[in-house]
Amino acid sequence: MYNDFQKYLSDELQSIEEAGLYKHERVITSAQQAAIKVNTGKEVLNFCANNYLGLANNPELIKAAKAAMDNHGYGMSSVRFICGCSDLHKELEKKISEFFGTEDAILYASCFDANGGVFEPLLNEQDAIISDSLNHASIIDGVRLCKAQRYRYANANMDELENCLKLSQVQRFRLIVTDGVFSMDGNVAPLDKIYELAQKYNAMVMVDESHSAGVVGKTGRGTTEQFNLRGKIEILTGTLGKSFGGAVGGFTTGKKEIIDMLRQRSRPYLFSNSIPPMVAAAGIRMFELMSETNALQDKLHSNTEYFISKMKAAGFDIKPTQSAICAVMLYDANLSQDMAARLLDEGIYVTGFYYPVVPKGLARIRVQVSAGHDKEHLDKCIAAFTKVGKELGVIK
Ligand SMILES: *Cc1c(COP(=O)(O)O)cnc(C)c1O
Repeated sequence: MYNDFQKYLSDELQSIEEAGLYKHERVITSAQQAAIKVNTGKEVLNFCANNYLGLANNPELIKAAKAAMDNHGYGMSSVRFICGCSDLHKELEKKISEFFGTEDAILYASCFDANGGVFEPLLNEQDAIISDSLNHASIIDGVRLCKAQRYRYANANMDELENCLKLSQVQRFRLIVTDGVFSMDGNVAPLDKIYELAQKYNAMVMVDESHSAGVVGKTGRGTTEQFNLRGKIEILTGTLGKSFGGAVGGFTTGKKEIIDMLRQRSRPYLFSNSIPPMVAAAGIRMFELMSETNALQDKLHSNTEYFISKMKAAGFDIKPTQSAICAVMLYDANLSQDMAARLLDEGIYVTGFYYPVVPKGLARIRVQVSAGHDKEHLDKCIAAFTKVGKELGVIK
């Protein structure tokens, strides 16, 4: 059997390679931080990590994680409903709900799991899920696992959302689902308008704060801070794998009864191991740091403003963004690959995106700014973009 299957896979893989869609992974040999080492021995500046607050290599978090290893051991070797969880897990859940101004929180191994396990326990075929067309893959998969009727609206298109809400009035409960920040453009979901429509048409709202937590809002509390809706959104999901230290872990936070029901019925929670105690301990320390000072969020915001204004002044076409994601538009797929390769030669580590990751003809390089970047890093990046951009005729 395997001979035939092997041939089938090899052919498929070759056609992926020929279409230029094969994902080659780069290898980092240092800690994740602004200046990283890659396996060619070269040191480059990283502008494509989700390390928005620069916490992935934070000494305070490392210290907390090490201490937890000493007093709580390495792993949990259990699922919570059988063997319970550690005090650290409980404490972290409390910190998450304090941070977002919600009633309770539940931890998962990842946000992919949080999204995969949120719909099916809450809604059934009598209900409706109304989803933004650019929502993350994990939301799409989570919706597939649920029997609710599905409606979809074009990215951030409030007329289409309103239409979905009208059509779904025949269903029992309605849940509107959106990413907080859409990762390819960096745009923030218009949560004020979504909330207004939800009120008007009697619907609930869920926001995935993975790219917005730590970033959006004056103190990085996410989209509910930005739109003055703290405590009003029924369900928020998020990750510990981006702004919040970048290790691993996800969560759902929101209304008490929703979280209670997830603890009873959410399959990735019931049938999968808890995050390691050291990750929970570092997460607790991270939220403590954020309640003490807004320095990292302030630095991220000023870094982002600085980077965008300098890049625009250099002549680059940057998508309007309200996050730390800056899409440098190039439109041409080959150009995006050439430019990313030339930038790497200049010591700038970025990735070019093209169809099918973004729509045809909208190829780009996505730059992710971090509080871990210092001004000299930003200046080096801008200078490299300007040099390569001129050489490739992107700017004059
Ligand atoms: C990254 C991301 C996830 C997945 O988070 P993990 O914790 O890495 O599984 C889910 N949703 C969105 C919107 C994301 O950007």
